Amino acid sequence: MSAVIRNARIRGETQPVDIAIENDRISAVGPALSIKAAREIDAAGNLVLPGLFNLHFHADKCLLGEIMRPNVSGTLPEAIEITNFFKRKYDPAEVSERAVRAMQAGVLNGTTFFRLFCDVGTIGGLQAARGLLLAREKMKDHCRVEVVAFPQEGIVRDPGAAELMDEAIKEGCDIVGGLPWYEYTDEEARQHIDICFDLAKKHDLDVHMLVDDTDDANSRSLEYLALKTMREGFNGRVTASHCGAMAGYNDVYAAKVIDMVATAGITISVNAHINLVCSARLDREPRRRGIARVKELLARGANVVSSQDDVHDPYYPFGKPDPFECASMIAHVAQLTLPHELEQAMDTITVNSARAARISDYGIAAGMRADLVVTGAQSVNEALRLQPPRRHVFCGGREVARSTLTQELLP
Ligand SMILES: [Zn+2]
Repeated sequence: MSAVIRNARIRGETQPVDIAIENDRISAVGPALSIKAAREIDAAGNLVLPGLFNLHFHADKCLLGEIMRPNVSGTLPEAIEITNFFKRKYDPAEVSERAVRAMQAGVLNGTTFFRLFCDVGTIGGLQAARGLLLAREKMKDHCRVEVVAFPQEGIVRDPGAAELMDEAIKEGCDIVGGLPWYEYTDEEARQHIDICFDLAKKHDLDVHMLVDDTDDANSRSLEYLALKTMREGFNGRVTASHCGAMAGYNDVYAAKVIDMVATAGITISVNAHINLVCSARLDREPRRRGIARVKELLARGANVVSSQDDVHDPYYPFGKPDPFECASMIAHVAQLTLPHELEQAMDTITVNSARAARISDYGIAAGMRADLVVTGAQSVNEALRLQPPRRHVFCGGREVARSTLTQELLP
């Protein structure tokens, strides 16, 4: 036996258990296992979770906040303009250095799976993609990484972007990105989605788009994305991030689209951090929040995840990055405050994300991959409330991070 975590509290169990790890797998879970292991860890009754996810992270832009000029308007267009300044001279080694630093912080906070978005388009070419593929290689012993070929300047309005996405996929990107709402017209937004599906079918890849990330309630590409997903037989293979326009839909239209999203098995990624600071900058009060209708989606059985879009970049000046903070954020913006709703918030960074990434060997049970986080919290509530340091993080059966915290109240 390579390791055993003793006295672990796991979700859905009333009594503490031991978790045995053999190579990259969990080999046994049960109370007081009578086994010997090279490494023994006492979880001390703390919550132990399977590895945490960040399914939407623009790692190519992360930490540009250290060197950029301020985003004076706080809007998406100005963030794009600032980013383009850097993108014109991106160097893969420099992109990778920033991405690795942010990912290391994420791993310390229990993230064992990242989906990184790299801008692919005629301004930066393939430099961001190459940087994140390099970062994935550097971090391969610490976490699992997917890289999304993401057309930040659109596809129809950025001639050449589709061909560059195809190239980025050939170089190793493994998810087809998209940004349909950014096209000039509804018709071109639909063309954008069609092109993304052509790429996804050609390379047999899943799709993750940024959809209707705007205060305009008439931005309606989610409806077409859901229809396309059903027609192309991509059920369960598509994630749509943001979808803030949904907040402004009339209730009848919202119910129809939510039903389509659930039927198509589309995952909705809520990125509350960025939308709370970027959305509705032109509103006087009351100010909208630009967040998808989380409770209605959950009630209809749609899959919802919460993820950390930005870490100190032209869009957003904060970001730890910590999945617990993401779960806490979605709990705040969607008003998930009852005990079962706190569990739903925790699901967004664990099981729901695993479903979106189509990982079948996920969870704390014999045979599952040993991606594990020994938290410093006694319960889901305490994890979300205090977000204490993660004591031990395992990825593929290997301990990859450890934290200690000493606090002392002096007389
Ligand atoms: Zn994003």
